[in-house]
Amino acid sequence: MVSKEMVALASKRSVIREIYEYGQQRQLIVGKENVYDFSLGNPSVPAPKEVNLCVKEILDQYSAVEVHGYTVAPGDPSVRETIAHSLNQRFQMDYKKEDIFMTTGAAASLNIVFRALTNPKDEFVTIAPFFPEYQCFVTAQGGTLKVVPADIDTFQINMEALENMITPNTKGIIINSPNNPCGVVYSKETLVELANLLKKKSQEYQHTIYLISDEPYREIVYQGVTVEYVPHIYKDTIVCYSYSKSLSLPGERIGYIAVTKEVEEYDDLMKAIASAARVLGYVNAPSLFQRVAARCCDMTGDISIYEKNRNLLYDGLTKMGYTCVKPGGAFYLFPRALEEDAVSFCEKAKKYDLLLVPGDSFGCPGHVRISYCVDTKTIENALPLFEKLAKEYGI
Ligand code: PLP
Repeated sequence: MVSKEMVALASKRSVIREIYEYGQQRQLIVGKENVYDFSLGNPSVPAPKEVNLCVKEILDQYSAVEVHGYTVAPGDPSVRETIAHSLNQRFQMDYKKEDIFMTTGAAASLNIVFRALTNPKDEFVTIAPFFPEYQCFVTAQGGTLKVVPADIDTFQINMEALENMITPNTKGIIINSPNNPCGVVYSKETLVELANLLKKKSQEYQHTIYLISDEPYREIVYQGVTVEYVPHIYKDTIVCYSYSKSLSLPGERIGYIAVTKEVEEYDDLMKAIASAARVLGYVNAPSLFQRVAARCCDMTGDISIYEKNRNLLYDGLTKMGYTCVKPGGAFYLFPRALEEDAVSFCEKAKKYDLLLVPGDSFGCPGHVRISYCVDTKTIENALPLFEKLAKEYGI
């Protein structure tokens, strides 16, 4: 008999994927231009042209054996050195190459970290709204995930609720800023308050509570908003990063874990990270794209396109009467649904071929996620339909 747990997981299909597949079918019937698919978080901005140039250069420069061969498990040393240097320059850090562990994207970074940290009975806490994959990642690596309900007026952290959820079994807190699905960036005040709480609780329970900072959207941030570098605020932070969004390379599977030497049990943690990557079968991150990441780590795709989309959609929807916390980054808007049941609201939106994702799967019912990593034209054409939808609710 195959694993019951894995079979059960297959029946819990991703709502996002289902909506996307529905959209693909609809396109065949009504035409691509008449389907407003806001379901997926697939970057719409192309990777910087330097990425392709680097690929060519690297293929010319290295022998085929070298470029397609295994690297050492944590990643090519010169790649890690370059990335450490870039982080040191940008965030006044003091990383050395041994503090960087190359991975196949944020999903791998997270799974490796959960596996590296988890002992029986360990719990992780995240804050709604949250990336739904945390649930299966934490469970798969032997932990339990608890979710702090959203503060729907700001999408910052409800500290009281978080404090009540921390127990002697809490191993780590998972944060994601800029956030998927609400686009909100945690303020410095929020992070300082969080750090103070975690220091207090670590002391109370006599063990470190790690902060796992999942930051694939770190560079996708708009005018006037600052994304704090979390390890400056809480020393026991493990950064899980990915180039999927900033460089628009989600299919290439490349990212890293960064751990400063100040993190509690640094030596054991780095050993555990290496072992976790090994038992999970990652072997090493893609050799070619490690090298591309090193050469392009200070670049991003054209973020101004996402900012234009954000402004168009946020201004348009709020003028119509939708309620929405203004996102400071990422490429998602998370307005309130116009009825309590977001699933039913999304069904009504489908009548206009507006494909939205109910907030329920992000731990935040009553809201919908709109991924605006789409053509600006799609948003322009969708706005009158959002207006018709609002009129159905008498708004
Ligand atoms: N974390 C968050 C918050 C995400 O939104 C995503 C992808 O959408 C991931 C992690 C996984 O990213 P990657 O493609 O780098 O594995």
